[in-house]
Amino acid sequence: MPLHVYVHVPFCPHKCHYCDFNSHVRPSPPWDAYEQALIAELEHRVRRHGLHRRRVTTLFFGGGTPSLAPPTMIGRLVDAVQRLCSCEKDMEITLEANPGTVSPAQLEAFREAGINRLSLGAQSLDDSQLRWLERVHTCRDILLAVDYARQAGFHNLNLDLMYGLPGQGCDHWLDMLEQALTLKPEHLSCYQLTVEPHTRLASMHQHHALALPDEDLALSMLRETRRRLADHGFLAYEVSNFSTPGHACQHNDGYWLYHDYLGLGAGASGKFDTSDGGIYRYTNRRSPEQYIRAARKSPPPTAFDEYLRIEQAAAEAVWLGLRRSEGLEIRRFDSRFGHSPMDMFGKALAPHVEAGSLEIRKHFLRATEQGLALLDDIAADVLQQSAAMTATGAAD
Ligand code: SF4
Repeated sequence: MPLHVYVHVPFCPHKCHYCDFNSHVRPSPPWDAYEQALIAELEHRVRRHGLHRRRVTTLFFGGGTPSLAPPTMIGRLVDAVQRLCSCEKDMEITLEANPGTVSPAQLEAFREAGINRLSLGAQSLDDSQLRWLERVHTCRDILLAVDYARQAGFHNLNLDLMYGLPGQGCDHWLDMLEQALTLKPEHLSCYQLTVEPHTRLASMHQHHALALPDEDLALSMLRETRRRLADHGFLAYEVSNFSTPGHACQHNDGYWLYHDYLGLGAGASGKFDTSDGGIYRYTNRRSPEQYIRAARKSPPPTAFDEYLRIEQAAAEAVWLGLRRSEGLEIRRFDSRFGHSPMDMFGKALAPHVEAGSLEIRKHFLRATEQGLALLDDIAADVLQQSAAMTATGAAD
């Protein structure tokens, strides 16, 4: 099984009101100390989990705002991962960039550092929406960033876009999607704005109910997005992710395929299969300063870790796999967990198959068009059955 490596860069120029990512505003981020901490954690985890021979197929710098980091630091981290792990020669190396933080020289330097996939957090192509979202960039910055990226030699470019903003109708969203398509990205991630607990947006929503789209409108926006992008030759390979042929994000697809991943940095998580069929998962300390202090010590800066039993891991593999348009590959699941998904979670899955929300096609269990809207409910049913199995196992 391939291994994916994720490096979290937790610093941002501003904390957007809707954001629940592990991001922190620091006037002068401690880059040197953070880099040393990342390398110390990498060395430790490679040793501890015996990863030096694992085939690494992707490396992803996410955030936060990784484009704030000095390109030389990113280059040294790419080198360290390549030195300590068995990386594929042409591995996908992604960097998330905020369009308001990039210059032509900087993007060239990131390209030279080994980055071969750029993910631009555009979010909207409407300046009034960008202001409402508290983004530090404008629509013009997005156009320039795409131009700079192409000049720097990036041939694999993603744009993150957000729909379902207050008061937004389907036509406005589709017009914006058409504008985004004129930039000819190889990949688009289209996420619905969600009000996450403990964000400033959540308290704004509580005090002045925002005119957010209802479920029906949000669903029709998603369906129209899939239709419009299919017309433009994009494959909907996951619920919210679309690519031109050959440009699906291998890194994120690794999560949905339930591959192992090594997470490095403040608040990052990692997951490894265990020999009894379950998984081991850890999450690091979220505060950059605490992470830096802890990474200097041994054991590494873990804030929380857990072992999941085989039925808990299998339930996660089902709900993640169902997010993929292709679905969950039954034979692969069977060889990983010793049973087919229907044998293991028939009680939870069968009613959804009977109702036409799930179907088995060409060795895959997948959500139908109707089932797309019900993925959360299906996941809840599978997790509930797995919890019941765990409780019975624990009683045994
Ligand atoms: S730029 Fe992204 S990570 Fe940073 S605060 Fe805004 S939404 Fe969060």
